[in-house]
Amino acid sequence: MEYGEEYKDMLWELAYNLWWSWNPYAKKLFQQIDPVLWIETEANPIELLRKTKLLDERLREQKFVSQIRYVYTIYKNYLNKPSIYQEVFKKPLIFVSPEYGLHHTLLIYAGGLGFLAGDILKEASDMCFPLIGIGFMYPLGYVKQRIRPDGWQEEIEFTNSKMSMPARKIQNGDGSWMKCSVKIADQDTYYGIWKVEVGRTNLYLIDTDVEENSPSSRRISYQLYDKDKDIRLRQKILLGFGAVELLDKLKIDPLGFHINEDYPVFILVAYLVKKIKEGLSFEEALFDVSRKSLFTTHTPLRAGVNIYPEDLVRKYLSFLDKELGFGFSQRIIDLARNPQAPDEGFNATVLAIRLSNYINAVSRVHREVSSKIWAFVSRENKYIDYVTNGVHLPTWMCDKLRGLLDRYLGEEWIEVYDRPSVFDLIDYISDKEIWDIHMENKRRLIEHIIDRARVKWMNEKVDASSIMAQGVLLDPNFLTIGFARRMTGYKRADLILYDLERLKKILLDPVRPVQIIFAGKSHPEDIEGKRIIQKIFNICKNPDFGGRIAFVEDYDERLAQFLVKGVDVWLNNPIPYLEACGTSGMKASLNGILHLSILDGWWVEGFNGRNGWAFGDEIYDEDRTKKDAESIYKILEEEVVPLYYQRNEEGIPVNWCKKMREAIKSVAPSFCARRMFKDYISKFYSKFK
Ligand SMILES: *Cc1c(COP(=O)(O)O)cnc(C)c1O
Repeated sequence: MEYGEEYKDMLWELAYNLWWSWNPYAKKLFQQIDPVLWIETEANPIELLRKTKLLDERLREQKFVSQIRYVYTIYKNYLNKPSIYQEVFKKPLIFVSPEYGLHHTLLIYAGGLGFLAGDILKEASDMCFPLIGIGFMYPLGYVKQRIRPDGWQEEIEFTNSKMSMPARKIQNGDGSWMKCSVKIADQDTYYGIWKVEVGRTNLYLIDTDVEENSPSSRRISYQLYDKDKDIRLRQKILLGFGAVELLDKLKIDPLGFHINEDYPVFILVAYLVKKIKEGLSFEEALFDVSRKSLFTTHTPLRAGVNIYPEDLVRKYLSFLDKELGFGFSQRIIDLARNPQAPDEGFNATVLAIRLSNYINAVSRVHREVSSKIWAFVSRENKYIDYVTNGVHLPTWMCDKLRGLLDRYLGEEWIEVYDRPSVFDLIDYISDKEIWDIHMENKRRLIEHIIDRARVKWMNEKVDASSIMAQGVLLDPNFLTIGFARRMTGYKRADLILYDLERLKKILLDPVRPVQIIFAGKSHPEDIEGKRIIQKIFNICKNPDFGGRIAFVEDYDERLAQFLVKGVDVWLNNPIPYLEACGTSGMKASLNGILHLSILDGWWVEGFNGRNGWAFGDEIYDEDRTKKDAESIYKILEEEVVPLYYQRNEEGIPVNWCKKMREAIKSVAPSFCARRMFKDYISKFYSKFK
């Protein structure tokens, strides 16, 4: 064997398991191989290993080789940790989601729903809980955003390079790609299977882009949330039936099912079919599937639910009537009929509720809202419970801060961070240590934004004002507000622009300047969302605002990582009750970024008076927009700005740092994915029979 081959194998193995992305040592290891290429490949270890010319040289350095050995050892120890859960839960739980936000190199996500799913897979792995994820490989991924000089969002034609993604084809014994097929209507639809390793958890992705398929079937898994309703329905059916077929093929006997939103509801239908074919009656099968199924609803709006014409569903399911020998498709259609609106059509959420004994909302407020929207649930002797979302701490906490906590809390804290008392010792961390890390993150964020702007300027040769608008005039010394999320109407990204004169005074204050960074994509069909982007962008371009407002293009996981660590304040102001939970504010808070938010979603549970700011709990009236905007200005003028600029003789904002510590301490243990996942186990998975 050539020298170094075994170390190369180790590096490849690490590159194909996303575990590296939440382990500080593994991240550093890849970066060190070729720091320039690391940036060029946008932190993609697979591309890095493929392209670098420096590896052989590095492998001659004893120190580097021992680092590989070290990381590989902790990786192997991580994979082989004995698991109590494995002993108790002998079978794996099947988690199904239309999207997964795991890493920016795997573009199969749109927003919060996906990140929740991704963080659940990571946490299951950290807790050694037997869980398998199922989803789609979307060759076209989701939107790649480009803002035209006039501020309008364009979607760039873009094809994911599957070979650069941390996913590998599952192979048959003879080395060929493992494929399955299911019937949709009378047509066999084929799909190949990819595997993504997320620590100990496997995520299987269904890919219809295979040569066996007709062009129309090939398109089924092309992209996330296809605008064509027919494709979307076929996608749903495929996700469900395809998942059950895949489990059979891999000989996996499930403990039960957890479906993320109603999109995967057909997995419950497919399992029903399987049980009926094994000899159960429809009622027996329904009893069997529902007692091991959990449906998580994320939508706080009845209008947000996907409704399909019943005939369309019939077209795709009625072939089952022949196979099963009774009117199966009609039974399913009946179950999907909303008793509160019987004529609206096939309602996937209603079906999911009827097929699952366990239903949960994603925050306490959202439970109230959901119970009202789906009032029929209680009449059918079911109950909507809630598990407030949480975020995967090792993914979202800054490595430097994590290192600092290692020193103050003891290295074991990372094993038990859902215990609030673990964070007591945080009070002993000096202001300077916290502030230095924070300022470094802020500088890195702004450097990153300027780099992006430079690339855009060179590639697109657009006029300078649209480059200015992307944040080239940002200054790390100024108070920086971040607002980044999907750009859609109810999130009200433009709320802070309500009174431009008042805002201008705040931003351009000569002694205490303030700047705002926006980012976010709109769904291609969301015209309102695109108008909001345009409005913001045009203000960013306006010289009167002095470059103090920036809109950074193409929000993704990578940019999110910089933003939730590098701004000072995280702003959140959706129309109340329309945000089921919200998670980006949690990511920010556990880095000590202070949350300025309307009292809605998780903030109702999270705000304690000392860990950020809250507004908007008054009764709704006609002028909600004005009132909320004024609350934001008032909090900024009277509290946020003075606190930030109140410095001690070393230039450190001591009282701000106190709040930062409080934010970490109060949010990290309670709004982390570990707390969330433990809730899922105790409230639901442990009851599956
Ligand atoms: C966390 C995250 C989201 C979800 O944020 P919300 O606050 O729930 O809207 C969306 N996009 C990215 C890239 C994220 O990291």
